[in-house]
Amino acid sequence: MKHYITQDPWNIVEEGFHRDFNEITESVMSLGNGRLGGRGSFEEKFTGKTLQGNYVAGVYYPDKTRVGWWKNGYPEYFAKVLNAANWIGIDIDIEYETLDLNQCEVRDFRRVLNMQEGYLERSFIAVLKSGKELKVNSKRFCSIVDDESGAIRYAVKPLNFEAKITITPYIDGDIRNRDANYDETFWDEVRKETAYGEAYIELRTRKTGFHVATGMCVDIEQDGVKVDFQSQPIKYEKYVANRITLDCRKGQETVIYKYGVNLSSLNYDSDTIIKDAHLYIQRITRKGFDKMLFEQRQAWADKWKTNDIIIEGDIAAQQGIRFNIFQLNQTYTGEDERLNIGPKGFTGEKYGGSTYWDTEAYCLPFYLSTADQKVAKNLLVYRYKQLGKAIENAKKLGFRAGAALYPMVTMNGEECHNEWEITFEEIHRNGAIAYAIYDYVRYTGDERYLVDYGLEVLIAISRFWSQRVNWSKSKEQYVMLGVTGPNEYENNVNNNWYTNYLAAWTLRYTVEAVGKVKALDAEKYAELIDRIHFREEKELATARQIIDKMYLPSDEKLGVFLQQEGFLDKDLMPVSDIPKGQRPINQHWSWDRILRSCFIKQADVLQGLYFFENEFDTDTLRRNFEFYEPMTVHESSLSPCVHSIQASKLGMKEKAYEMYLRTARLDLDDYNNDTEDGCHITSMAGTWLAVVKGFGGLRIEGENGADHRVVLNPFCPDNWQSLAFKIRFRGALLQVTATQQDVTVQNFSEQPVTIKLHSKEVTIKAESQKTVSLKA
Ligand code: BGC
Repeated sequence: MKHYITQDPWNIVEEGFHRDFNEITESVMSLGNGRLGGRGSFEEKFTGKTLQGNYVAGVYYPDKTRVGWWKNGYPEYFAKVLNAANWIGIDIDIEYETLDLNQCEVRDFRRVLNMQEGYLERSFIAVLKSGKELKVNSKRFCSIVDDESGAIRYAVKPLNFEAKITITPYIDGDIRNRDANYDETFWDEVRKETAYGEAYIELRTRKTGFHVATGMCVDIEQDGVKVDFQSQPIKYEKYVANRITLDCRKGQETVIYKYGVNLSSLNYDSDTIIKDAHLYIQRITRKGFDKMLFEQRQAWADKWKTNDIIIEGDIAAQQGIRFNIFQLNQTYTGEDERLNIGPKGFTGEKYGGSTYWDTEAYCLPFYLSTADQKVAKNLLVYRYKQLGKAIENAKKLGFRAGAALYPMVTMNGEECHNEWEITFEEIHRNGAIAYAIYDYVRYTGDERYLVDYGLEVLIAISRFWSQRVNWSKSKEQYVMLGVTGPNEYENNVNNNWYTNYLAAWTLRYTVEAVGKVKALDAEKYAELIDRIHFREEKELATARQIIDKMYLPSDEKLGVFLQQEGFLDKDLMPVSDIPKGQRPINQHWSWDRILRSCFIKQADVLQGLYFFENEFDTDTLRRNFEFYEPMTVHESSLSPCVHSIQASKLGMKEKAYEMYLRTARLDLDDYNNDTEDGCHITSMAGTWLAVVKGFGGLRIEGENGADHRVVLNPFCPDNWQSLAFKIRFRGALLQVTATQQDVTVQNFSEQPVTIKLHSKEVTIKAESQKTVSLKA
């Protein structure tokens, strides 16, 4: 763990330059706007530890795999999110000396990510080898209003000299992915152009053929007045720049405004993309830096109005939750149904911008409660559009008749991960996609979604489950062999309780959804079943049989569900028995040792008890929690949040808080020693869940669309004065504030809202609030 980030409620602050941690800080201080983003690197040259990362949403490369022994069914490629042209670069040269914080003394360094207003600011004094002192202040953001652009204000001030300073703003497209499997480059140059203070470059990805046009334009001010400058164009292979030399007096501030755009052929015609970049640049330059920043502040203020969580009395926790909410909003805005939420968003290459089950299992509830309904719907439609590919994927593996297996990792609907234990076996992701449909319909009441999209996906997933199970003569039950559950520290196990339960549940939900869709729109239903050759009677009969006879391993004596058959044969011991210095075990133990151990990477049985909590009583949850929690190492960032929610439900406040802090500050404190690769974006949604579903006790209760209502059981962790969060529910915006004494629910909408608050029905009139005491 590292504690060099200053605690502050709205800012992520690095006081003094922590050179060795620079890659961690770059991850944490990443900027993004859903369409593009990049790490919090320096604009000027830096020869120290750095990963310059700039990313454009949806642009990827199918890297050749590194599988040693190829077998039928393996995916063809391992998709990589592409590190794209660096548009932020500004080289500074002062009479033969280059500004490089790795080569000079650095004073008064401060790097701040302002989460309230959405920008990154940095200031420092550089003392060059010649003794010249230069004060620098930079401010940069990725605009969420003009979301294919960003802007930089970079100010330099000589403190003890006057000289000619050469400023070289550039675009560098000669970029390699650090995680390239064969160290290949992924970009080809198509064309480039320079003009006075402007430069453009168009690159094309190898194999996938995406075009990305990156453009820049520069304005300069001295003493607050715009200056004319001579700009010398520079062009190399995949590189364009303007070299500008200015006389700078001692104490005089020279400000460089650099505007950048990144347009991709996902949205623009590749024949005219450079021209479009040019027009875009003209538009934002006319607007100017100050106006763009003003709009940025307003747009972020709007987001915080519905997203903010306020914690009084614990700055570390406050900073943690805002950081998580901020990064989630930077990663996905829901504007474009072709995009999704990568586990590292725009903050790094590893896991990149690919889509995992993380989206459905963890992220969806965050967007359901904090954003417009269409945002969550777009996440679902993304999978709907990839149904054809999921059916193809299942077919490749030998499944028939419209069965769908969604990929574990994808960029375009195809499976693109290469570990067989994950692609063939970690099939529970299919169930999470079905569960997300249920979650969405329940939360929004949009039952029409089932008619238009949902049922088709459910039938295809159910067809997969029906074929994936087999009848065990000895057990006289259906079993599911050779799977990997969410706990990836077990491979090729039989009858993983979570997967079996999820499969049976999906079949159940599909049967229910068939009935619902028939009742809602018989004509559309008839059309659908004809198109997908759904033999209702036969397929539903099979489903019912499996539901009734699914094998769910459990141990009666212990009163727990078994993570998988045979789990109790392991040498069971608590995590506290692992010798100090051997954790995380995935960085110290052989894979063989990990697989044979009892240690659990992430919530597995407990994940199932979280999804399907209405089907189990609290004692069952308690027994399972007490059994599994001590063996869980939480080496997936997606784990502590589920344990936190469960602990809250069980009234284990301290445990809930411990697990919350671990997820909320995972990246800020570099808890798993891997933040330098990028932030754990999808687990940030888990942090939100730990607060809103855990401490807040948010649930949706009821059977049918119209009856559903919000249930809240909020409490305030012991060391907090108060906790306040907002949720949207069917047109209403509610704010819940819990203190140690009471809970207040404020209804901002123009309609009364009836909720269940600590087991009592409460109606809150339009635009008013109700307070309930927590004292018995
Ligand atoms: C977890 C998976 C998760 C992936 C991406 C892995 O470490 O075990 O459940 O989908 O990371 O976040």
